[in-house]
Amino acid sequence: MKFEHYGIGIAKGMALTFKHLFRKPITTQYPEERLTVSRRTRGNELVWDKERCTGCATCAKSCPEGCIEIITSRGEENNYIVDKFEVDMGRCIFCGLCVEACPFEALFMGYAYERARYRRQELVMDKEALLLSGERQPSGYARPKIEAGLPRQTLLLDRDKVKK
Ligand code: SF4
Ligand code: SF4
Repeated sequence: MKFEHYGIGIAKGMALTFKHLFRKPITTQYPEERLTVSRRTRGNELVWDKERCTGCATCAKSCPEGCIEIITSRGEENNYIVDKFEVDMGRCIFCGLCVEACPFEALFMGYAYERARYRRQELVMDKEALLLSGERQPSGYARPKIEAGLPRQTLLLDRDKVKK
């Protein structure tokens, strides 16, 4: 006859339950408390460096969703002037192929993850919305030089170190 028939199984289960009752919770009280995401995160925005972009449209050609639209005109030095650079983040699948394909390191995945909107049209990012600026933090995804300078990801194990 097995011991469980004498209630040992229940006792074991209850012991485990009680053990967890006294453990420190590892949940995060978002949005009051935010964890630092992975340095290589593929957030829900793209970041564009206007100065480095040549308007070659390699990123747009690499996008499997066709959600990057670029319109260029010819400049005085036979260069491209980017008149329109628009990304429909509502269709983007955050694959990062456009970032990997950019030969001039002018496009980055963003660090942001709070871009929920009520209307799909509001997810379309134009040149100004994509522009690399102080507010927009590029992710280190496919950009090892940037990755090295980004803060370390907060793991739930390190939760005690998270500033509240
Ligand atoms: S991340 Fe992928 S789906 Fe999104 S714009 Fe870039 S290539 Fe297209
Ligand atoms: S691939 Fe890079 S350089 Fe070419 S248009 Fe896209 S962002 Fe600009």
